[in-house]
Amino acid sequence: MGNYKPRKRLEASQYIEGVLNRDRVLLSRAITIVESNLASDKKLAKDIIQAILPKSGNSVRIGITGVPGVGKSTFIEVFGKHLIEKGHKVAILSIDPSSQRSKGSILGDKTRMEELANREEAYIRPSASGDTLGGVANKTGETMLLCEAAGFDVILIETVGVGQSETAVHGMTDFFLLLMLSGAGDELQGIKKGIMEMADMLVINKADGDNIKKSQLAKRQYENALHIFPKSESGWSPVVSTASALKNIGIPEVWEQIMAFKNLVQENGYFEKNRKDQQIQWMYNNIHENLKQLFYGSDHIADHLKTLEQEVLNAEISPVKAAERIIQEFKSIL
Ligand code: GDP
Repeated sequence: MGNYKPRKRLEASQYIEGVLNRDRVLLSRAITIVESNLASDKKLAKDIIQAILPKSGNSVRIGITGVPGVGKSTFIEVFGKHLIEKGHKVAILSIDPSSQRSKGSILGDKTRMEELANREEAYIRPSASGDTLGGVANKTGETMLLCEAAGFDVILIETVGVGQSETAVHGMTDFFLLLMLSGAGDELQGIKKGIMEMADMLVINKADGDNIKKSQLAKRQYENALHIFPKSESGWSPVVSTASALKNIGIPEVWEQIMAFKNLVQENGYFEKNRKDQQIQWMYNNIHENLKQLFYGSDHIADHLKTLEQEVLNAEISPVKAAERIIQEFKSIL
């Protein structure tokens, strides 16, 4: 990485035109700029995003999660192909804050979604790596806007169903799909109750062969479990279905449910409202991140914090008073 030299950049207008003309190469290069941490690229990225913003938004944004091995990539491959057959253009993005550690994102593996990857109507982009969750979410969010401006009308955002990244994906999508397995307890699947609560649809995958009966039983159990959750603001009651991504069973039904959801929330106004709320939330998330960086990134503050910590430990100052003092200090250096 030490010798990494970024490729020569074009003018903002060339990327903008390229994206709007649905040029895949320029779309990819624009995404690279959005993902870059170079100061000069950040300025370029802002100009590009600002310009394409009015052309974004015209898509169904779907979050897909589930523990590793549940069949996400197999599902996305058949689901994506189904959508293409129906005339859609599908972009597949991922949020994977672990991608730096694992040296390759959940979508980085070339063997995943092989057929889909070769389709003109599909665009697959792995998660940006080496960032905080907030950073990855920002980049995926802006990548989504670029893909929409380039004419992709279904956006699938994949994440591994084990951590906080679900909240980030939920915060930028219209519909949240949770893939599950039958016969494994929720604890075993690492699925937290909070994630189930976010789901608009639960798909019990691998409902094939010996697994069919168990899957149907699991379906009923999850249906019962979902009843006790408070009703969502969207007015939609989450649905449970069984599917086999491997055998291509139950896949069109998932899209039918998503369309039923979309019709409902477009009619009752929730679709628009949710998107607007998400925009505002995105702004605040960034403000919080930037404030934190400004504060903790200051050497002066860091020095003072060390002293204050000691004073708190020695009971010379109360924690509340210490916090107040450091904030005063911060204000004075701004
Ligand atoms: P991911 O880690 O969630 O992306 O899961 P993969 O899509 O890589 O699938 C993990 C394994 O489960 C692979 O061996 C798949 O072939 C298998 N698999 C995926 N979907 C199904 C299914 O519907 N039925 C069966 N029997 N196996 C499946």
